[in-house]
Amino acid sequence: MKKTKDFFNRVYNVVYDNVKPLFNGVKKFIYENERILRAVSIAIVFTAALAVSVLATGLTFGVEVIYGGKDAGVIKSAKEFDSAKSVAVSSINGADYKNFDFKDVDFRPVLTLKNRISSKDEIAEVIINGNDDIVYATEVFVNGESVICIDNFNVKEYLETCLSKYDIAGAKNTHEFIDNVEVKQGYYLQCNTSNVNDAVAVLNGLKVKTTSVVTKEVTVPYSTVTKKTSMQYVGYSSVITAGVKGLNRRVENIVTLNGVTTSNSIVSNEVLRKPVNEVVLIGTKSKALSAADKATIANAGFLFPLPSGSYVVTSYYGDGRNHQGVDLGANKGTSIFAVKGGTVVSSGSNGAYGYCVIIDHGNGVKTLYAHASKLLVSKGERVSAGQVVALVGTTGRSSGNHLHFEVIINGRNVNPAPYINLR
Ligand SMILES: [Zn+2]
Repeated sequence: MKKTKDFFNRVYNVVYDNVKPLFNGVKKFIYENERILRAVSIAIVFTAALAVSVLATGLTFGVEVIYGGKDAGVIKSAKEFDSAKSVAVSSINGADYKNFDFKDVDFRPVLTLKNRISSKDEIAEVIINGNDDIVYATEVFVNGESVICIDNFNVKEYLETCLSKYDIAGAKNTHEFIDNVEVKQGYYLQCNTSNVNDAVAVLNGLKVKTTSVVTKEVTVPYSTVTKKTSMQYVGYSSVITAGVKGLNRRVENIVTLNGVTTSNSIVSNEVLRKPVNEVVLIGTKSKALSAADKATIANAGFLFPLPSGSYVVTSYYGDGRNHQGVDLGANKGTSIFAVKGGTVVSSGSNGAYGYCVIIDHGNGVKTLYAHASKLLVSKGERVSAGQVVALVGTTGRSSGNHLHFEVIINGRNVNPAPYINLR
């Protein structure tokens, strides 16, 4: 038993003597190299993380495509490039879509990440962009038939210009092509495109239908109505109510084909102002004189108040403005004769009449001579028939040299024309 115990004690002592310094050595190493050990630990963690991410994405073998001498991307296998070529061909429009030359291609095996592999569509895009004879263009179809294909030209904008060229300024316009016009945009071979002049000629030839809603103000003529009066002689005519034109706001719907009107209809017609009828007063009194009038006139025996040939009639009795006499236009200074002998009852300035002479011929008959430039008789003076009583002028309310001549019977004005044989 003691033998066994001694053995264990010996083993213990040997182990203790040898292990203790080893532990102390490790402790000392850790103590002395703490910073290095920490850095190593961090490096291990990072490497592990990197390894995990590489495992997640995955590395793979691929083929790098060198198209026309340029790196076009990496694909799974060279066979995949044929698929990309098919995609490229099918994305080209126009008649000659198959006839374009592929550039030289080279393949190089590579080890790459799975997510760096390009799809056939991406490679097709590189093929298209790398070929100068492929352009992005617009093709125009009329009723389903291709009429033109053009690149570097804003077809849609030009079609809009074609559509609006027959618009009516200020109107509400809608427009459309008569034919069914469609545009398609995509890749085309340069040889399938036209020049701008040809394109513009084709697009300008498209027929346009334009519908314009036009609002305009239109004048409406007035009507003339006549009223009769037995107070005035035949031939008398006077506007007693001036006509006023009406005004309507009219909305029209105008349809044109290439600018030529094909229909024009009135949508609405709003009356802004009604026209006002013109009213004209017409005299119906016969010019024929009664026997009594004739006798009175014959008895009066008047001379003409101005030298013959020296005058023109500028206004008759009545004349639409209640004119109380006749106006005889004559040069300033023309002699004015007393039409009959009598007594001057007034000679002087007389308001609107200007310089004016009134002669009383007896039996209730008086004559009046107005607008004179000079008076040659005085009130109370006796004058004989044909005596110069004044000279023609334009005094008072007058617009030119003339004699305003009145005949007054028993205090009432009558038409002087028959008294002085004026026609
Ligand atoms: Zn007058």
